[in-house]
Amino acid sequence: MELDIELQPSDLVGCRYRAVQRHRFAEQSPTEAAVRRIERAEAGRNRVLALLPDAPEPWDPQRFSRVHIDGDGEDAELETLEALAAQTTIITGAAFTGISDGRRWRATPDVLVRDGDGRYLPVIVSNHRIARPAEGGKQPLIATARLGLGAPSTGAYRLRHHAVDGYRLGLAARALAEFGLDSGRGAAIGQDRELAFLVDTGHYQAALSTALAASLPDRPRRLKECGECRFWFDCGPRLTAADDISLLFPGDRAERYRLRGIDTVGELIDADLGEASALAAAWRARIPVLRRVERVTAPRFDVEIDIDVEAYLDQGAYLWGAFDGRDYRSFVTWGGLGTTAEADTFAEFWAWLDSVRDDAHSRGRSFAAFCYARHGENHWLTSSARRFAGHVSAAGHRVPSEAEVTAFISSEEWIDVFAAVRAQLIGPRGLGLKTVAPQAGFTWAETELDGEASVDMYRIAAGHTDADPAAVAEARRRLLSYNGDDCRATSVVRAWMAAGAPGTPPLMG
Ligand code: SF4
Repeated sequence: MELDIELQPSDLVGCRYRAVQRHRFAEQSPTEAAVRRIERAEAGRNRVLALLPDAPEPWDPQRFSRVHIDGDGEDAELETLEALAAQTTIITGAAFTGISDGRRWRATPDVLVRDGDGRYLPVIVSNHRIARPAEGGKQPLIATARLGLGAPSTGAYRLRHHAVDGYRLGLAARALAEFGLDSGRGAAIGQDRELAFLVDTGHYQAALSTALAASLPDRPRRLKECGECRFWFDCGPRLTAADDISLLFPGDRAERYRLRGIDTVGELIDADLGEASALAAAWRARIPVLRRVERVTAPRFDVEIDIDVEAYLDQGAYLWGAFDGRDYRSFVTWGGLGTTAEADTFAEFWAWLDSVRDDAHSRGRSFAAFCYARHGENHWLTSSARRFAGHVSAAGHRVPSEAEVTAFISSEEWIDVFAAVRAQLIGPRGLGLKTVAPQAGFTWAETELDGEASVDMYRIAAGHTDADPAAVAEARRRLLSYNGDDCRATSVVRAWMAAGAPGTPPLMG
């Protein structure tokens, strides 16, 4: 059966069983989250298609042609070969199939660009962040609008690795090599649609061969991505029936127990392996949070502010929310990210936070600001200060310097509640705010707005879709409600911890 299954690059990362399930349940529709993801990918591709050149520069005598192929169409492969044979300058929507390392595969580079030697550069459009600015970096790149026209230059960037993007380019290069048309290079266009970063596709071939040759599993194993997978209807009940240990420890986390012959949650409970067995017993008894310590504590301050940021992908932070124990304040923009609108929002938020802190200090009162898992807040505080350095808002408030932000986030007045939770509590399903806050008695008004759903909601709220004004207003209301509740939940968790986390059983006995 293995050679019957045609692999796509996405089958080579994460769950390997998904390809098997796609073969078994070919008619199963994608989940809502997957549909949204496909729509976002499509929007990115369309933006790139709009940026690609249609014609040579008027003064350029070169022969130029551009062809679009319906990559899902029945004749996509044949049309791709015809476009290659016609030496088309830019081919979009190409499709190839091939066999290597004992596997059938399908490659769909978004764009093929003919180079000066008559060979082709495969280009993929990804929703990942492909590169970060890096001082002194000399990364080959070319403007999307110059593909097929200009020569690459270099820019101060460093590439970020995303396995699936590498596999997409690697497979496209293999397909082109079949026809002697592989240029040895490919390009990836990420969240910044205007730049294509060039890479050597030879770098991906060894890893690609290993990934293709790996055998396909004959049963599911729970991973993080199961939560949004269309095949969970089948995998979930099978895992439950098998009492599979991955229900408790997903992915490779159970490997060390499997190596000891422990494959089920029940076996782990019986193995008497201290913390792991206690967690397994808690999972079985549906106890979400346990105490690691005799008494759970949390520091209190005269003035306390709980903060939560909402960002859209890597493009910018559109909402800074703050709860002072009584009122929730939002500093929000639905205008363009990376523009004055976002800079103004950040300046206003910082000015407010600064004034609350200064006021507390001047009155001799203790002050602290909190967040739950500070990675996101620290990233957006620092990068907003860097991106909008020197900006003064319409209301006359200044964006803080990066040094001011760094001084604040490394001070004792900026506290990560998640770190305190992790030090004192443990839970078989992790210690995310959504798991811990309900133990403290908190519930969200918006229950369905986690992760990817909030990304889609932002696209509606910011007018990136054709939703009507009522739907836009509703999306904004929901995002604000969700952010406000995240801030309030953090505050409630702190108060609950300060009271000793009542109702939380100890981890051991
Ligand atoms: S539900 Fe999980 S195990 Fe099953 S195919 Fe999907 S990701 Fe893989």
